[in-house]
Amino acid sequence: MASTTPEAAPRAETPRARFVVQKHWARNLHYDFRLEIGGALVSWAVPKGPSKDPKVKRLAIHVEDHPLDYLLFEGTLPENDYGAGEVIVWDFGEFEAVGPEADDALAALREGVLRFDLYGTKLRGQWVILKTKMGGGKRENWLWQKNQDEFAQPDYDPETEPASALSGKIPSGKR
Ligand code: MN
Repeated sequence: MASTTPEAAPRAETPRARFVVQKHWARNLHYDFRLEIGGALVSWAVPKGPSKDPKVKRLAIHVEDHPLDYLLFEGTLPENDYGAGEVIVWDFGEFEAVGPEADDALAALREGVLRFDLYGTKLRGQWVILKTKMGGGKRENWLWQKNQDEFAQPDYDPETEPASALSGKIPSGKR
């Protein structure tokens, strides 16, 4: 993660910050989950996309932070770009860290577990993301899971909600 250690970070007016899930047709289709924390978008690549089924843990590979202005990016990343391919804003909204580390999401990430509520158009309710020791090497594998609440949905498949939450767009020939 980038060295974004703010000096005496000011306490935000509201504990809520923004999140996005981008659907990305790179060489391998995946979803990118990003949380606005510490002035950047802390990011994970999620090969199978989010699941609203509390029984399902989705692999979420921690990737480099992205700048805040990437939050609502939709379009096509060029061929010479790592991750070339089409991107839509699959979901976006606000999140609120909850639990004992709610006041310091960066500390929670360092500890390897972040609990949060999502206020998106598709993703709502309580979620958790936690670091695992799976995989090894340079890859940092996390697991992203829905908690049981009224927004849980057994056997959920993100492909059943294909349209951009921002524009309504479904890229032609893509699903
Ligand atoms: Mn991506």
